[in-house]
Order: sequence, then C-alpha cells, then structure tokens
Amino acid sequence: EQHRIIMDEAAIRRALTRIAHEIVEKNKGIENCVLVGIRTRGIYLAKRVAEQICEIEGAPVEVQELDITSYRDDREAGISKASIRNSASVNAKDKRVILFDDVLYTGRTIRAAMDALMDCGRPQLIQLAVLVDRGNRELPIRPDYVGKNVPTSKLEQIVVSLQEVDENEQVTIIH
Ligand code: 5GP
Ligand code: MG
Repeated sequence: EQHRIIMDEAAIRRALTRIAHEIVEKNKGIENCVLVGIRTRGIYLAKRVAEQICEIEGAPVEVQELDITSYRDDREAGISKASIRNSASVNAKDKRVILFDDVLYTGRTIRAAMDALMDCGRPQLIQLAVLVDRGNRELPIRPDYVGKNVPTSKLEQIVVSLQEVDENEQVTIIH
C-alpha cells in the first residue's frame, strides 16, 4: 500500500481560489446563488469558496448544508419516504445552486443530492463543484468546477484531509 501526495496545502488553496473566480464568471456575479455543501468535507469546501467569493465580489454568498445519506440508491431499503423528505432541509427554491463535494466518483451521491434538492423546491439551476474528480462514472454526471482531475482505478482511493476536520491539509492517493 502506497500513499502519494497529489495536492498539498498550496495546491488546494489555489484550486479553491480558481473555482471561486470561475463561479463568479460563469454566473455573471453571485446574485441568487447559494453554495450547498454535501456532508462533512463538502461543507468546508463550500465555506472556503464562499469566503473567497465574498472577497472578490464584496458581498456575502449563502452556504447551506446537505446530508443525503438516506437518499443513496445503494442503501438498504426500509426508511420511509417521509423521513427521507425530512432529512434534507435546504432552501434552494428558484436559486442558482452550486453543489460542493470533496470527491466525485460514480456520481450516485450527486444524483441523490439532486433528488433531495428537488424535494425541497425546484432550484433555478444546479451546478457541481468538486475538489477531486477521480473518474469511473456510472451515471451521466459531470462537474462544472474541478480542483484536480485524477484518473483512478477502482482499487485506488483518494484521501482528502482538510484542516477543519483532519490534522493536516492535503490530498493523497492510496494504491
Ligand atoms: P460517488 O457517489 O460519486 O460514487 O462517490 C462520491 C462520494 O463518495 C463523495 O461524497 C465522496 O466523499 C465519496 N468518495 C468516493 N470515492 C472517494 C475516494 O476515493 N475518496 C474519498 N475521500 N471519498 C470518496
Ligand atoms: Mg463525501
């Protein structure tokens, strides 16, 4: 088993700064935009990019959190539809939603996130930002903003460590 660093602290910072600029450019500002972070690390990525956007535009951008655990299509059945509905509570109706996750792989998490968003009121549009795209998609989903493209085999694994939750700040690949 081998660990290799593919992004260090500076690389992560530069990638998030670039993504902040790309979001502002693609949306011609940040009017009506909301950044929605998925689970743990997507939330911190969204918060960091929101800070950068605030510096660029001189206006705050809203950040919301999304936990889509109960929406995954590969989870055991048995959770009632009502409890699933209640588990997601984003307010993104008619908003321009930019979803954030740390790693994009098969696309199933993002599909579930889009389901959850739709249940909470139809957004105007949904875009996707990820720190790492490791390929191996099983659904027709592609990110709008990518920190780093890292083609992987199914045997490899990406480890994302962020200061807010982990002791260090880096992205490594294990193979
Ligand atoms: P997907 O649903 O696209 O198959 O997988 C994406 C979700 O699983 C993301 O929420 C991501 O955090 C997690 N994930 C999938 N593959 C990896 C990986 O190699 N490393 C990490 N850190 N997370 C992964
Ligand atoms: Mg995740």
